[in-house]
Amino acid sequence: KYIQWISNYDYLYLKLSYFILYLKINKYLSFDFDRLTIYSLLNFFFINEIYFNISLGAKKMVVQRTLSIIKPDATRRNLTGAINQKLENAGLRIIAQKRIKLSKEQAGIFYLVHKERPFYDELCSFMASEPIVVQVLEGEDAISSNRKVMGATNPVEADDGTIRKEFALSIGENSVHGSDGETTAAFEISYFFSGLEMV
Ligand code: ADP
Ligand code: MG
Repeated sequence: KYIQWISNYDYLYLKLSYFILYLKINKYLSFDFDRLTIYSLLNFFFINEIYFNISLGAKKMVVQRTLSIIKPDATRRNLTGAINQKLENAGLRIIAQKRIKLSKEQAGIFYLVHKERPFYDELCSFMASEPIVVQVLEGEDAISSNRKVMGATNPVEADDGTIRKEFALSIGENSVHGSDGETTAAFEISYFFSGLEMV
């Protein structure tokens, strides 16, 4: 995102410099602009772009990170590679990944938001039953692109081509987990990974 901004910034700096040069050559301007003044002018446009959402023609990229889990039903059937292929085909980059086995308590904390749901106990036992693969995915709108390639919670309702449509066994044993928003993504990533592990 910032790289995109910086290159736009340089591009606009160049444009504005040429424009000022043009004004000077044609005697519309008698005084010179220094670099700082030109940057101040640019800052003004960028602040407007941020606050009033005036587009300067740059495509805004929202690079996000999201937590993904390949659940026990999938690791047991050797589907890790096939699922990763689907994630990568969806434009998601696996920037961290490890195979671990959760205790029921650890699964319980991870799924604390569901503690009032009737399937909470069953879900925690399932997640702790066999190894899982936890991973951090990065990409443009990673949270929603991952949810899209995962498919609906219930595989019967999942769209064709999605991971759950192809691999899930049931609404409970549905092969993958994916964060459902920015706040949950931040919590879930930090639950399994340190910053140094994401590259
Ligand atoms: P999602 O994983 O699509 O975000 P939820 O957050 O609603 O779905 O539920 C978390 C997980 O709990 C599901 O992925 C699934 O493994 C399990 N689950 C959800 N609904 C049920 C259900 N009715 N019966 C058994 N397990 C369920
Ligand atoms: Mg969920």
